[in-house]
Amino acid sequence: MAELEIDYKKIAKNINQFKLNKEKIIAVVKNNAYNMDLEDSIRTMYQTGIRYFATTSLNEAISIRKILKDVDIFLINPTYKFEEVKKYDIEINISSLNYLKENYENLSGLKLHMEYAGFMNRSGVKNLEEAIEVIKFSNENNLILKALWCHFAHADEFDGNYEIEKSRILNIYEELCKIHKFEVKHFQNSASYLRDGIFEIASHIRPGIMLYGAYPYDVKKNPTKEVYKPYQTFEVRAKVLNIRELDKNDSIGYCNSYIANKKTCVAIADIGYGDGILRSRLTGKTCIINGREYEILSVMMSHIVVEIDKDVKIGDQVIIYNDNLPIYSYNKYCNSNSEQMAVLNKNSLHVIKKY
Ligand SMILES: *Cc1c(COP(=O)(O)O)cnc(C)c1O
Repeated sequence: MAELEIDYKKIAKNINQFKLNKEKIIAVVKNNAYNMDLEDSIRTMYQTGIRYFATTSLNEAISIRKILKDVDIFLINPTYKFEEVKKYDIEINISSLNYLKENYENLSGLKLHMEYAGFMNRSGVKNLEEAIEVIKFSNENNLILKALWCHFAHADEFDGNYEIEKSRILNIYEELCKIHKFEVKHFQNSASYLRDGIFEIASHIRPGIMLYGAYPYDVKKNPTKEVYKPYQTFEVRAKVLNIRELDKNDSIGYCNSYIANKKTCVAIADIGYGDGILRSRLTGKTCIINGREYEILSVMMSHIVVEIDKDVKIGDQVIIYNDNLPIYSYNKYCNSNSEQMAVLNKNSLHVIKKY
């Protein structure tokens, strides 16, 4: 059985590199902490000094509160479960001016975050005028407007769009801070923090993927301001089940998925897309056996075919992911770090946890 080893010390190592005071980090732990398991992840993060968490799901927000009493929790998605967020002291998002106006009676006593929609545009106020209206309406109705935030759509791109969205929120803040004091100001995901450091006007950053150990963009091609070396939280390892000699024109796998163009020695290993490893990570890419890289020729649901040499033996370990085969090296487009993590199938991989 192939293994998924999750090492929570790596999360701590990632966080401890941040020069920032840990209380200035809002740790994003959505989707079961990027599939690294919520409870173990937040306990580790708490030990490093983090006291603020954000997730998209109310159930996760409640789970965090049941585990940690003295932390702040921000629910990113709009919610109408006002009694529950009150009961568990969860801070919520103003997803639009209408949401605020229609629900203000229920929002009394809750800590509210105002989102600026920006290019992301999933939710939030559209412009300065709407933002001012939110502030006025909140003041008139004694609502607690604790925070201002936004989420960048282009922070991992270097084509100029990020500079535009950045200047928009900074300009808006410059006006808003004249009429309202926001206790918390959080704008930056991992990519924005890595390239810019924390904004002068911000109280917090709001990273996800950097906590779990991956570069959010290609740092060889693009500049970084913060110093950061990722320690990938997890490793994936399989084993050589069998070794076959293929003659020229022999096929192997479904639909002749690989046809040998020469005499080829191959290993069959016990991992495939059914274990939640993306085909795009496997096909034509490499794995490590006994410290050397070998090409993966074909991918099935529970098996891969690897081109090998005489040094490889049945039972040898086949590494798919570790610090030498990191998720970020397979990024073809943004978010593919988290995609590779989200799909890992913990029901078929044998999960080992290290603390
Ligand atoms: C996922 C998410 C983040 C974290 O993004 P990373 O790129 O993983 O750092 C921050 N803010 C919001 C609103 C998110 O949804």
